[in-house]
Amino acid sequence: MNLLQVKNLSKKFGNLQALDNVSFTIQKGEIFGFLGPNGAGKSTTIRIIMGFLHPSEGNIEIFGLDSVSYAVELKNKIGYVAAEPVLYQDWTVDDHIKFLVNIRGSQIKASADKLKKILDLDGRKKVKQLSTGNQQKLAITLALCINPPLLVLDEPTRGLDPLLRATFHHLLREYKKAGGTVLLSSHDLSEVEDLCDKIVIIHNGKLIQDTTVSRLRFNHGHKIKAHFTDEVPNFSNIKGIEGLIATKYTVEFKVKDNLRPILEKLSVSKVEDLEITSASLEDIFEEIYK
Ligand code: ADP
Ligand code: MG
Repeated sequence: MNLLQVKNLSKKFGNLQALDNVSFTIQKGEIFGFLGPNGAGKSTTIRIIMGFLHPSEGNIEIFGLDSVSYAVELKNKIGYVAAEPVLYQDWTVDDHIKFLVNIRGSQIKASADKLKKILDLDGRKKVKQLSTGNQQKLAITLALCINPPLLVLDEPTRGLDPLLRATFHHLLREYKKAGGTVLLSSHDLSEVEDLCDKIVIIHNGKLIQDTTVSRLRFNHGHKIKAHFTDEVPNFSNIKGIEGLIATKYTVEFKVKDNLRPILEKLSVSKVEDLEITSASLEDIFEEIYK
């Protein structure tokens, strides 16, 4: 089932085309990665999803409802972490939770307390006493504690250290297991690598990839490093090879095509050591954005 459908979405700010004919769909139960460098159009798309902005063209349906006409109803079904979370400087963490309990009901208190504990967030601290990372933890707690059917997270791990990132990723996996759906924006491909079922990449307002991370990696090939006890065999005539560097006993290159001819050649050579790695995510991004 299409839980969220973005159809031919465009957004102009004056002369600036922030989004240009963007379409994608998110299925129920997916963790969907929305990737792109700063200024790509991620937050603009997300603000339209949340009903804070109107599209110039195109539309978005969430749970089959139009994001503009049903903005109020939809906000109740979505846990949202904004790019710049709106928090009250003089309120404590617990004040924010109490406020939400008043709107949403007492059942969310237990789940907020659990999240505070998991994320190591002190309920007594005022927002103005919190670091960016701790403010981000509060924003995450407020979005997740209502246990919504959809989470829309705009670069939620900004300011979190690697350990907390991992904890947060674990929370998202648990949420998914329980049937939840996530839209996660990030400018860091490695962040979404293990987490996301599907990703789209946006650049200058245009969608440039709609794929899975493993397919993206596969399409961008492998790096091979081999060490031989004898002279290096000739790889240069094999299709798809790039950046070949050979010394007397070692060879290094990238290959975008099928690995089989290389493996066949290696199998009849005197290989002492071999390393085959997928192209790094940085390599992939560099190539996509150039
Ligand atoms: P991202 O979240 O991917 O970093 P944004 O969606 O925030 O990108 O921004 C996309 C483009 O739209 C940028 O060039 C940004 O400067 C511009 N932009 C975003 N919001 C506004 C606005 N309210 N008014 C004018 N330009 C905007
Ligand atoms: Mg943004």
